[in-house]
Amino acid sequence: MTQKVRVRFAPSPTGPLHIGGVRTALFNYLFAKKHKGDFILRIEDTDQNRFVEGAEQYIVDSLNWCGIPFDEGPSSPTAKGNTLGKYGPYRQSERKHLYKKFALDLIEKGKAYYAFDTAEKLDFHRNDHEKKGKTFIYNWHNRLKLDNSLSMTPEEVQRRIDAGEEYVIRFLTPPDEKLHLKDIIRGDIEIDTNTLDDKVLFKSDGMPTYHLANIVDDHLMEISHVIRGEEWLPSLALHQQLYDAFGWQAPQFAHLPLIMKPVGKGKLSKRDGEKGGFPVFPLSWNESVGYREAGYFPEAVVNFLALLGWNPGTEQELFTLEELVDSFSLERVHKSGARFDPDKTKWYNQQYMHQKDDATLAEAFQLHLKEKEITSTSNDYVQKVVSLIKDRATFVSDFWELGDYFFVAPTKYDEKAVKKQWKDDTQEIMQNLASFIDGITDFSSENVELEVKKWISEKELSFGKVMPPLRLVLVGDMKGPHIFDIMALIGKEESLERINKAISALA
Ligand code: GLU
Repeated sequence: MTQKVRVRFAPSPTGPLHIGGVRTALFNYLFAKKHKGDFILRIEDTDQNRFVEGAEQYIVDSLNWCGIPFDEGPSSPTAKGNTLGKYGPYRQSERKHLYKKFALDLIEKGKAYYAFDTAEKLDFHRNDHEKKGKTFIYNWHNRLKLDNSLSMTPEEVQRRIDAGEEYVIRFLTPPDEKLHLKDIIRGDIEIDTNTLDDKVLFKSDGMPTYHLANIVDDHLMEISHVIRGEEWLPSLALHQQLYDAFGWQAPQFAHLPLIMKPVGKGKLSKRDGEKGGFPVFPLSWNESVGYREAGYFPEAVVNFLALLGWNPGTEQELFTLEELVDSFSLERVHKSGARFDPDKTKWYNQQYMHQKDDATLAEAFQLHLKEKEITSTSNDYVQKVVSLIKDRATFVSDFWELGDYFFVAPTKYDEKAVKKQWKDDTQEIMQNLASFIDGITDFSSENVELEVKKWISEKELSFGKVMPPLRLVLVGDMKGPHIFDIMALIGKEESLERINKAISALA
């Protein structure tokens, strides 16, 4: 590769970024960094009708949260004109003055033409064709019968333009050609130009269409590789023809496979997320909960997205971002759709949970504790709790469910467990155990365990008569880590209080 690698993620700010979009950004980032290249964010906002307030900020926030920063792009989603990098502006709406001359240049070269057909006329043709069971396509077949500069004299064209008539500029698809397109992931693709329509390049509102702006910008920004979703594959023929028409070197293309529904056919949608109770957006957007808010770690999201449609060629499943950069290659991206597995995303989060240090997790848990109005607990205590329960958790939000009894004494006891564990002699055993525990001075987990076990055998009791009821009275049900760890952490006084409280409650 001689040309510097420069890739771009080019979303349209029409709503929240779907995780498929995040994966496209991630693959661009990995490819750029692997080849010591640049990763560019370009905002494709030429379609003003579909513009959604806040969507650009959402895109930037999502990339930042995932830890995949761009080297060039709009430097601030709110400040117009500010750019990071020398190929700006990176918002197409701020580049609109640039495009028309390229469209006119193609007309000059005989590769594009003016079309004056009104929306009503085109609708008429569409309906007329439909009635005959056909589909109307603006192409070689009928372009000479329509209102355009190919079917009228240059004088007539000029007269209409001078009179201020609305027009669009269309690409003139050459007939009877076989296009040979290349895609890094999909290999060679052959397209017959007779199947293509003359796409609009420049609209009557003075804005370029996606196709023109995209090609012009990729050229001016010296993009070396276009890595984007499979849904853009049908546009490749036009894009390649546009590069050829301008006489420009086209970038290399790689179309990523779709992310598919967990079950059934088709592309993963927002509805699948709602039905299956999993996020499809990186961050929350209106009423849709994002991965961040659902408690996922960004590293887990990046890791599972990387393996959706790409494989490293080994059994390795856990990758840091640096390892992904090292191992990534477009050649290992699959052609076929990647099925989305919500359970696997949870598994990833669990793996990252285990890797996190207790201090970090405790800090995150403190936020949840605050919501429960538990504020007096020391960070050290919360860290110890976390170290005991994190192995069973998938999310930080599970900590409360798993370890609420570390912060508040049980107010009720699981009925089933009571029925099973609380026998006629349990009350007396617990009373005796309480007096014994009161006498223990070294309240470390190891020592309490040693002493209590000794006491059980001296009293010739079975473990089953003592340990399950002890857990029940301390925790409220049968869950939790090693019971002596719990006792050591909540302390002697609290342990005794809970035993005594249960004795009277269950008497
Ligand atoms: N603006 C297009 C989109 O929304 C970009 C497609 C491309 O990468 O060429 O995805």
